[in-house]
Amino acid sequence: MTAEPTATVVTRFAPSPTGFLHIGSARTALFNWLFARHHGGQFLLRVEDTDRERSTQEAVDAILHGMDWLGLHPDGEIIYQSKRAERHAAVAHQLLAEGKAYHCYASKEELAEMRETARSEGRPMRYDGRWRDRDPSEAPEGVDPVVRFKAPQAGETTIDDAVQGPVTIAHDQLDDMVLLRADGTPTYMLSVVVDDHDMGITHVIRGDDHLTNAFRQYQLYAAMGWNVPTFGHVPLIHGPDGAKLSKRHGALGVEAYQEMGYLPEALRNYLLRLGWGHGDDEIFSTAQAIEWFDMDGVGKSPARFDFAKLESINGHYMREADDTRLALLVAKELSTNAGHALDENEQTRLVQAMPGLKERAKTLVELTDAAGFLFAKRPLEVDEKAQKLLDTDARTLLGRMHGALQSLPDWTVDSLETALRNLGDAENLKFGKIAQPLRAALCGRTTSPGIFDVLVVLGRDESLARIADQTE
Ligand code: GLU
Repeated sequence: MTAEPTATVVTRFAPSPTGFLHIGSARTALFNWLFARHHGGQFLLRVEDTDRERSTQEAVDAILHGMDWLGLHPDGEIIYQSKRAERHAAVAHQLLAEGKAYHCYASKEELAEMRETARSEGRPMRYDGRWRDRDPSEAPEGVDPVVRFKAPQAGETTIDDAVQGPVTIAHDQLDDMVLLRADGTPTYMLSVVVDDHDMGITHVIRGDDHLTNAFRQYQLYAAMGWNVPTFGHVPLIHGPDGAKLSKRHGALGVEAYQEMGYLPEALRNYLLRLGWGHGDDEIFSTAQAIEWFDMDGVGKSPARFDFAKLESINGHYMREADDTRLALLVAKELSTNAGHALDENEQTRLVQAMPGLKERAKTLVELTDAAGFLFAKRPLEVDEKAQKLLDTDARTLLGRMHGALQSLPDWTVDSLETALRNLGDAENLKFGKIAQPLRAALCGRTTSPGIFDVLVVLGRDESLARIADQTE
């Protein structure tokens, strides 16, 4: 189905602000955003903050920050569900007035008894409808009733889910759900339907943990005579072992991925691939993702989170990324994590070294680590592996390198390469035998960008001084 773009599509992301922006929710937001953009429609954000105890401003901020970082900008103003409680209640009262809902006075004890019977019979608890047809005159004194929905009891409902296909449930599986609590506050199920209707939502794309809710919601739409949106229930993300995603395997907030050094475009690309496919393609530009995204490409079985794949996609985006942008990100990392604010010279050196550095790093954390040699103070701390390379022979060889390089008229990749290759030939040494100790002396480690690039970026004085520090 490659639907022609229409202006009628309205999607929403409806997080409950009780924690960070979970990686699975971020993917839900992404799918809704892409679907709306693909159809030239609107992508709205509704904060489902009706659980006043558990909802926090901090969590709202984390969600907004995560969406902003991923570039998932909502259209229109943010809707806060808690501010719409009166409207939700009004709908329940309308249903009451139309005989499609009723007051239920069942006590806590009665409900506990129903729960107990259900448990002993090994079936889920279902309210038995004892107040469904009772005359209000039988209401006990001094009890605040809840309002329950008069759900259809016979027949069945089929939802043609955009991901799962047709799913049917028999009405006797659903009891009369509560719409308004005894204190008059609306339940989640009522609020979602009223808000989705009032916001003009045409497509509800969310995790498949909400699939059973969709049937109850469907019945409410029908009772109100409202258009039912198209539902698309996306399988949840699983861990590499096929089990529920654990923290160790990636069940983290988006900000944790930011801290681990992933680029937002890489995480977004990875999340898109996680549960959606377009042939064998792995890398998508934003324009391609918008052009190609549809619900047909969403898989019916849970995708497995794979850090190695995320890293490889991130490596790709790092290599593509602009050097100045990466240098700024590394500088930020250095100043927040190492308390080292780069001066202008250091910043320039970092940009210069970036083409070589970014080839080798899979995350910004690795990139920052690899860039460390640029700003290290002499005499360098030499790590264990590099130390091993710097034996007596290597140190005397470094002395001869120092001599050869010192007299160079200019300090460019070409002249440095010629000088060092000539030295290798004269000493009858393979080039690796020259480069290895030199790298250890210049960087204090055994990995680095190309050795000539390192020399150029460090400059003549610093390079010669670092070599001299290691000669015997
Ligand atoms: N607030 C719900 C959640 O965070 C989502 C509800 C919905 O998408 O309909 O799981």
